[in-house]
Amino acid sequence: MSLATVGATLAACNRSSLWPGRGQPLPSRPREVVQIIDAQPTIEGAGVHLRRSLGSRALPLLDPFLMLDEFHSNRPEDYAPGFPSHPHRGFETVTYMLDGAVEHRDSLGNHGHLGPGWAQWMTAGHGIIHSEMPVHEPSSLVMWGFQLWINLPAANKMVRPRYQDVAPAHIPEVVVDDATVRLVAGSVGGKIGPVDGIVTTPQMMDIKLGPRGSVRHAVPTSHNAFVYVFDGEAELGPGRAKVAAGQLAVLGAGELFTARTTPGARLLSFAGRPIGEPVARYGPFVMNTEDELRQAVDDYRTGRLTEI
Ligand code: MN
Repeated sequence: MSLATVGATLAACNRSSLWPGRGQPLPSRPREVVQIIDAQPTIEGAGVHLRRSLGSRALPLLDPFLMLDEFHSNRPEDYAPGFPSHPHRGFETVTYMLDGAVEHRDSLGNHGHLGPGWAQWMTAGHGIIHSEMPVHEPSSLVMWGFQLWINLPAANKMVRPRYQDVAPAHIPEVVVDDATVRLVAGSVGGKIGPVDGIVTTPQMMDIKLGPRGSVRHAVPTSHNAFVYVFDGEAELGPGRAKVAAGQLAVLGAGELFTARTTPGARLLSFAGRPIGEPVARYGPFVMNTEDELRQAVDDYRTGRLTEI
């Protein structure tokens, strides 16, 4: 990809992430819930107990989103084994922490300590090898966070890996109706999240509802969107579909997200531009074809995965 192409892509990302700008009226077509699934208990890594919603049998894919895991436990035996050194190619991983911390080290030489409120956006591109090891704070045994996987289009699967660590102070908090929104990526209320230059122009928000429990925000019409409730209960869309903590709701077409919730309910809202390409997956590799998967496995075995 030429630098001019990269520049044009980033400019397009920034334009769409500004929609709708501050002071512009909200669009009017709310999205209905079209599917609700329960997160399933799953064991991953070296023995981490978590709950998988997206990426489970009930919902293998919501283009461009591949997986959403929630890990939440106050028993170290559930999370301490962690995710020792392992590779990725062809997609992006997003880690978002509510409590506890994760130590990250990777083949680019990055070292991060992700505590409560941190986000990490890692574009694996052609290859990265990293470890993600939970460490609880001395004062608390609680570990609570999420990992999301987002696909890359064929044209971007083999880009150089990129790593964005975002400290809590750099994640804007925006008051939207009766909610406080931590904006990781995309835009809301005229503010733009700190994660930039992502090809699927994602919107990612951590939404905490106030006592009246209602919120609306714009979602780009071109994007697929879903919501994961992780505390309390919500009624989503004009049909007021009931979604409880530990459930994921897929949203249908439209331009507006609406929710009424129990006071203090919390949810994650995601939207991303679909890629529309074949998806071939094998463990930590997500490519377009089986041949490309075989190549990824071979490159990892022979030490070429991370070569530039
Ligand atoms: Mn990983």
